[in-house]
Amino acid sequence: MNRKLRLLVVEDEAAISSGLRDVFVYHGYDVCCVADGGRGLEEALTGTYDLVLLDVMLPTLDGYTILERIRATDREQPVIMLTAKSGDDETIHGLALGADDYVAKPFSVAQLVLRVQAVLRRSRVGAEQDRTLRLGDAVAIDTANLSGTRGDEELTFTRREMAILEYLAAHGDRPVPRDELLNKVWGYARDADIETRTVDIHVAKLRRKIEPEPSEPRFLVTVRGAGYRLLTETE
Ligand code: CA
Repeated sequence: MNRKLRLLVVEDEAAISSGLRDVFVYHGYDVCCVADGGRGLEEALTGTYDLVLLDVMLPTLDGYTILERIRATDREQPVIMLTAKSGDDETIHGLALGADDYVAKPFSVAQLVLRVQAVLRRSRVGAEQDRTLRLGDAVAIDTANLSGTRGDEELTFTRREMAILEYLAAHGDRPVPRDELLNKVWGYARDADIETRTVDIHVAKLRRKIEPEPSEPRFLVTVRGAGYRLLTETE
């Protein structure tokens, strides 16, 4: 289940603000509208928004100053500037301060929705790469969504299975002993009297999902006497 994307609209013209709210709510976003510049900055810095739509001429604090202050603490926050001015100088000023895009009023709402979607796609590319675990050419695992694919096949994982994969992936340079997995993934003390077979059972289940040939694992391999190791490339 995907969460709703959160949009902050900092705009003092009530008609534009409410129009934007209607359109983006219709497109499935959570929208927060603020009319005052100072409050807009505070909201941008303290809230968690996927994107900020920022007017330039605002009461108490202008859009450029807000953008500068946002960038001082968060270089990744996606921001699109909205302005009445369409001159090249204004565009360059906004982009130089770190706006992701720039839309001149009067704008077409359909255009703006497309721009917002494009900026969000770009900003999420990095984040999505971080959470994708690839094994060879065929297996891609979405660690955040407990899902993945092996060729055409859809995979689903339990939280525990994903925790094992992530732990092994993070320590890919060495084999991880079973008691270390019990300690780190299950939270058992190292000397706890718990069957290391628990680990083996989970590993067997994982192999049936990620390995083309579970009886001859190429990714989740056993290192005799040392534990398990996750290889992201097969030799
Ligand atoms: Ca304004």
